[in-house]
Amino acid sequence: MMTTTTIIGFPRIGEKRELKFATEKYFKNVIDQEELRATAKRLRRHNWELLRQAGISEIPSNDFSYYDQTLDAAFLFNLVPQNVQDLPFSELDKYFALARGYQGREGNVLAWPMKKWFNTNYHYLVPQLNQDTRFKLTGDKIFAEFAEAKELGIITRPVLLGPFTLLKLSEYQNAAASDFVKDAVTAYQAVFTKLITQGAHWIQLDEPALVKDLTAEDRQLFNDLYRPLLAAKGKLKVLLQTYFGDVRDVYDDLVKLPFDGLGLDFVEGKQTQQLVSRGFPADKVLFAGVVNGKNIWRNHYDQSLAQLKAAGAQQIVVNTSCSLLHVPLTVENEDFAPDVKKHFAFAKEKLAELQDLAAIYDGRGAEQLHANQALFAHPRVQEDAALHDRIANLKDADFIRQPARPVREQLQKAAFQLPLLPTTTIGSFPQTKEVRQVRRQFRRHEISQEQYDAFIKGKIDEWLKWQEQVGLDVLVHGEFERNDMVEYFGQRLSGYLFSKNAWVQSYGTRCVKPPIIWGDVKRQQPITIKWSKYAQSQTKKLVKGMLTGPVTILNWSFPREDISLKEATLQLALAIQEEVLDLEANGIKIIQIDEAALREKLPLRKSDWYSEYLDWAIPAFRLVHSKVQPETQIHTHMCYSEFTDIIPAIDAMDADVISFEASRSNLEILDALKKQHFETEVGPGVYDIHSPRIPSVDEVQTTIKRILAKIAAPKVWINPDCGLKTRGVEETKASLTNVLAATRAVRRQL
Ligand code: GLN
Ligand code: ZN
Repeated sequence: MMTTTTIIGFPRIGEKRELKFATEKYFKNVIDQEELRATAKRLRRHNWELLRQAGISEIPSNDFSYYDQTLDAAFLFNLVPQNVQDLPFSELDKYFALARGYQGREGNVLAWPMKKWFNTNYHYLVPQLNQDTRFKLTGDKIFAEFAEAKELGIITRPVLLGPFTLLKLSEYQNAAASDFVKDAVTAYQAVFTKLITQGAHWIQLDEPALVKDLTAEDRQLFNDLYRPLLAAKGKLKVLLQTYFGDVRDVYDDLVKLPFDGLGLDFVEGKQTQQLVSRGFPADKVLFAGVVNGKNIWRNHYDQSLAQLKAAGAQQIVVNTSCSLLHVPLTVENEDFAPDVKKHFAFAKEKLAELQDLAAIYDGRGAEQLHANQALFAHPRVQEDAALHDRIANLKDADFIRQPARPVREQLQKAAFQLPLLPTTTIGSFPQTKEVRQVRRQFRRHEISQEQYDAFIKGKIDEWLKWQEQVGLDVLVHGEFERNDMVEYFGQRLSGYLFSKNAWVQSYGTRCVKPPIIWGDVKRQQPITIKWSKYAQSQTKKLVKGMLTGPVTILNWSFPREDISLKEATLQLALAIQEEVLDLEANGIKIIQIDEAALREKLPLRKSDWYSEYLDWAIPAFRLVHSKVQPETQIHTHMCYSEFTDIIPAIDAMDADVISFEASRSNLEILDALKKQHFETEVGPGVYDIHSPRIPSVDEVQTTIKRILAKIAAPKVWINPDCGLKTRGVEETKASLTNVLAATRAVRRQL
């Protein structure tokens, strides 16, 4: 029997982001629904045929989505709020209304909130369930797409978010997950029945929530759902698909339950190998996720084969570790040199890898194996021995800034003489059309360096003057020269590669193009000095230097696999450290090192938080600023205030000041900061920058007072939630004017 191959899901956005552009045109009424549907259909067909041609034997369907697969499941199962159902719209328009919100003649509908999909940079819509929700099968997307593929002669395996993960990810109002168990079972059973009638052999139920730490209740919920569901599966074979980790807390249950296939992740699942070695049941097919669905490097065949062999399953399907949604489509459209290109496998290239692995596993494919061995026989890049030595020789003292923070605090207060409740912003000012256009012209050599510099200087001057006028205490240069907080730095570091088309869906129609860390990273040239220095030379007030921190740069790039994440982060940390010291040498007295994405890559299991991540991520940040003078003030900024559970780690970054997003979470974090004796000075954002709304003076004053009720005034800074680059000029000025008025009013009362 030949070993077969499959994937968990394929990117749906299209090689040239066709779905994104068509959808956006549809939103703007440039094309009609029929045309959008036709584009979507073409893309689905293209993907299925691509998979078939690649030799993938088991092809999924319903991995396509117009916006998000969790939202698809909500529409399939009638979880849509009544006010959306009542809109006099087509199904698709109701769907988009819930995805993006709708405000218009027919009513006012809030979009469901969005959250990060496990440990990826993809975002899903969070279903909101309440006592009125009736969980039942009403949609037909999954059936329609199965039928569509069948017409092409492909019997696909429909993919559906499993009931456990769906209920775990949902948020509840006057209801709980357990209220929906019975109806969910009935609804999923109805899906099974209908698929059987249509001629399906398998269904794939995605249950990534199983790789998190599970409580006894979670296990109960899982069993309550699957026992009755599997009892009624009839002829349909059920693949339970997990990814992003291992299933250590439920492996025994999975083995006992009558699943026909178990999909396990051998890449991120640290204990997967160990679990299957306890014995993989002979009555089940192992869908072995050995090809990394999240990164862009070629698979190391010898390693994957060793995993496949050690698994000891009688029936194996070679699989990716997670959906290929998280990697770009193909390296074909990139113009890297052949010697570089041969190391990359994006989604399309991974299909060939799956085929190779199956062949080699069956004792064929010697040629492919040899070619792959040759690829890995030599290190991909020549290592920078001096840099590796430097990292190997780092001492504990290199990670510790002297003197201790309380001493620095006094020195800095004496040196800066800032008023109580100092005001500042997070760094960027509005990136208007004009700003983006001039940057584009410069990139395309349509304007000269002199013209470009003059423009940026003009912008800096304009905003410095405005900041002085409005009365801000610590100014910023505005970041007009930056396209993106990571790309701008990557372009000035060695070791980085930038793709042309390697887009990955982030949410809905939004895609990102993460840069690739190819080799050892060093600072090639000063990164931010020119503009920070210029800005400081134009004003007597303090201007904050503005950097992106090493953990954030790493988390928003495709990382190397030939060195550890820790090593890669330390390389970045040393590069940014040079920049910090250079800023200091150039007279910059306050330096903000943004760690916007620090919280993002916190491991899914709490037990791994420190050992797998924080134990090196926090020291890497400390390394960046450990060598500055006591009077140099280090700020950091984080985009989420959801760090209540890692407060000691945030304090251990040893920054002097931290600003963070707080206004939308109702300042909840303040209690935790107080209780846990947070030492770093704090600037909890006093207004939400995600909306154009202008906060009133009263509102901001109330917020400041609420902050002061929890945190002593000498520790408090006043700032917005985040950078202002996405906001308009007028609303930015109006909002900050009110913030300053409110701050002055509160100061008078202190
Ligand atoms: N300094 C950056 C800015 O103001 C921070 C952005 C962020 O936190 N995402 O734009
Ligand atoms: Zn932010």
